[in-house]
Amino acid sequence: MTKEEKTQVVSIIEDEIHKLTKKAEELKSFTEPISPDDAIGRISRMDAINNKSVFDASMRNIQTRLDQLAQALKMVKDADFGICIKCRKSIPFERLKIRPETRLCVNCLKK
Ligand SMILES: [Zn+2]
Repeated sequence: MTKEEKTQVVSIIEDEIHKLTKKAEELKSFTEPISPDDAIGRISRMDAINNKSVFDASMRNIQTRLDQLAQALKMVKDADFGICIKCRKSIPFERLKIRPETRLCVNCLKK
């Protein structure tokens, strides 16, 4: 993996973290106490996620993804980032761009 590729992965991860953090904040704002003036706007927005279990699941997903990305961000600095921990082959860059937290190549993952 070249230095340029690493830089690219880092910016992808940072972008993703930024987006997810924003999304989590948006989701959280739905659960804040509603002031009477704001109630109607809030209610229509709440419709989209009025199911609490849906909300909880979304929050959990975002949190999990954020944890994975934070982990990936640390791993990028390792010399063996992008190398499969099982077979020691390089993980394709295209795959790392989508799943930067991945530590296994597709073949090892299947096993
Ligand atoms: Zn492998």
